[in-house]
Amino acid sequence: MAFTSNDDINAIRSKADIVSIIGSYIPLSQRGKNYVCVCPFHDDHSPSMSVSPEKQIYKCFACGKTGNVFTFVSDYEDVPFLDAVAIVASKCGMEFKRSTTKQPSTIFKTEYEIMNLAQKFFQNNLRTEAGKEAMAYLQERGIDEKIIKEFGIGLSLDSNDSLLTLLTKKGFDEKTLVDIGLVNNVGGKFYDMFSRRITFPLWDRDGNIVGFSARVYRGEKDVSKYMNSRESKIFKKGETLYNYHNAKDVAKREKKIILVEGFMDAIRLSCEGM
Ligand SMILES: [Zn+2]
Repeated sequence: MAFTSNDDINAIRSKADIVSIIGSYIPLSQRGKNYVCVCPFHDDHSPSMSVSPEKQIYKCFACGKTGNVFTFVSDYEDVPFLDAVAIVASKCGMEFKRSTTKQPSTIFKTEYEIMNLAQKFFQNNLRTEAGKEAMAYLQERGIDEKIIKEFGIGLSLDSNDSLLTLLTKKGFDEKTLVDIGLVNNVGGKFYDMFSRRITFPLWDRDGNIVGFSARVYRGEKDVSKYMNSRESKIFKKGETLYNYHNAKDVAKREKKIILVEGFMDAIRLSCEGM
């Protein structure tokens, strides 16, 4: 439950000037008593957005987007409302303290903790004797040490329960492990979802590990080359764009983003220094 005071939000709203806040993202030019700019919410080529200092609102006459300083920042930065309030506050030199008992990022604290443990385990496996063949496979394909680190590449062992054993020893129950897709339940028996595969962590937009993609590397013919985590409460395929958490700030700054089809394509681009 959040205890954010409306008074605080109103105080920030009255201190924030919509012209300077929007102007910190997009160039504005004065037209009469209002300002105009190219609308960032549709493919705009002429300034369609009008910003009113008097009413402290903006409105796009082409796509219809309208709102106040907080909705602008929320939409532009693609962040929740309260994050937008905090951004506006800091742009005005104010502090916005949120006293919440549960931040969104802590809702799935246990699930993220398990994913991080799995990730550390996979990464470590690649560095052991058991990882030599996988490491050679990666290096043959031009995936060097820097890329392995950058993308957190790891290895699931030649075993059906090494991760299961590690995580249950740490006190996590099988049901939670099945729910987040690290373990399979086959008729009441539990097995690691990934084994004998090179692992690639998948992150959400905030950089939390929410799943894995894993590929074979020994030329196996009778199994699918890639295996992905199934959807779970933390992993929504339709909402997950590989490496977006790393790319989003640069993309905003440079106003461009390169979209590729598969996550390996994204890694390839990084190998090429892009
Ligand atoms: Zn528009």
